[in-house]
Amino acid sequence: MVYEQHDGPTVIDTAAGSGDGIRKCPSCGSSDIQLDIPSGMLVCHFCRHAWSTPLATEAFHLDTPIGDLRGRVIGSGSQNIVPGTDQVVSFKCAACGAEISIDTNHAMQARCPWCRNTLSINEQMPNGAVPDVVLPFSLPKDAAVERIGAFVKKRRFFANRRFIREFSPENVLGVYLPYMIVDVNANLTFEGEGEHTTRTYTVSVGKDETERRFDYDVYRVGRRFSLHVDDLTLESASDKRDQDASRNTNNIINSIMPFDTKNAVVYDANYLAGFSSQRRDVDVDALYEPAAMQTEDIGRYRSLDTISFYDRGVRWDRRDVEIMGERWIAAYLPVWLYSYQEEKSGGRKLLHYIAVNGRTGETMGSVPLNMTRLWVFTGIAEVLGVIAAGLSALILW
Ligand SMILES: [Zn+2]
Ligand SMILES: [Zn+2]
Repeated sequence: MVYEQHDGPTVIDTAAGSGDGIRKCPSCGSSDIQLDIPSGMLVCHFCRHAWSTPLATEAFHLDTPIGDLRGRVIGSGSQNIVPGTDQVVSFKCAACGAEISIDTNHAMQARCPWCRNTLSINEQMPNGAVPDVVLPFSLPKDAAVERIGAFVKKRRFFANRRFIREFSPENVLGVYLPYMIVDVNANLTFEGEGEHTTRTYTVSVGKDETERRFDYDVYRVGRRFSLHVDDLTLESASDKRDQDASRNTNNIINSIMPFDTKNAVVYDANYLAGFSSQRRDVDVDALYEPAAMQTEDIGRYRSLDTISFYDRGVRWDRRDVEIMGERWIAAYLPVWLYSYQEEKSGGRKLLHYIAVNGRTGETMGSVPLNMTRLWVFTGIAEVLGVIAAGLSALILW
C-alpha cells in the first residue's frame, strides 16, 4: 500500500548551545574527556570530575503523549541530508587557531596536532553526522569480548577452520550506529471475514468409519482503533539497511534489539571518544514507509486480542493505516562489532558480523561454515534419522 507523507516538519531544536571546537571540563578546563562506561558519566582525565548531559526525553520534551502528535515532528539533527555536503569537516582549533579536518564518516573528534586539545564536532550540519541524541555504551569491552568468545565457542565445530585460526575477539570495535527513534500516532481500520465454530460432532460414513464435522458461522468483522507506537528503532545507514544475504549479514544487527532508548542523552561528541561512529545517510522520507509498515504489523498483532471469538481465524481483506502524527529523533546507539570478511570460491566475499548490544549484552552473529564438516554431519544425521524411522516402523509392525 502507499502511505501518504506529511508536509513540512515541525522541528524540535536539539542543537541549542552546541558549537564545534573544544568542549572543556566544567571543573578544570581540560579537553581530555571520555565516557566512563560503568557509571555512564563523562569523566575528565585530568581532574576526575564527572558529569553527564541531560536525558533527551526531558531536555526535548519527547514524552508528550503520542496520542497528541499531529503531522511530522523531527529533531533538528534528523533533517534531510543536503547532497554534496562535505563529509570531511574543517574548522579552526579554538585554542591555537590551527586548521583541523575531521572525516565525519567515522569519527566526530580529533586531537589538534599542535596544541593537543581534543576537538569535537557538535554543531548539526546537513551531512547527517550529528544526531539529536546518543545512548552511551554501558557494557564494557571485556564483557563484549567474553560474549563474542562464548558465541564462537558454541559454534566452533562447524566453523570454517581459517576463521577459527584468525579469530581474535579482542579486535572487537565499539561503534555508534545511526538509528531513527520514531513515535507514531495512527488510526487503523481493518475489515474482513471471521469464522466461529458453533458445533463439532462425529458422523458415521459407511461401515466402521466416522468423520469429524464442524458447523460454523461466517461474520463480517471490522476493527477500528488508534495505535500509539513508542520508540520504534530504524537503522539509518544505507549499507546496514542493505539486506542482501549474499553480500552481508546485516540482519544480525537487527536481532540484538531492543535498546533502552529512554535513557538516551543529549548529544555530546565526548561520549564518542575512543569509539568509532557511522554517519546517517538515510532521510526521514525514505524511512517513512518502513515505519508505516511496521506500524501496520504491530496493529495486526495487537488486533489478535480483540478477535479471539473467531476461533477459526479472521482474514483481513482491507487494512488502512492512517498516520495522524509522527516524531523522529536521530540517535547514535552503541554496538560492539566483530567483523570478518570471508573469501568464498570464485572471489566472492561475504561480510560476517558478531554484534553485541552495547547496553544489554544481547549477542548475535554469523560464523563462516566449514561446508565439508557440515555436509558430512548432516549426512550422518540423516542416515541416523532413516535408521531410527526404520526401527520405529519395525516396532509398529
Ligand atoms: Zn577536569
Ligand atoms: Zn590547537
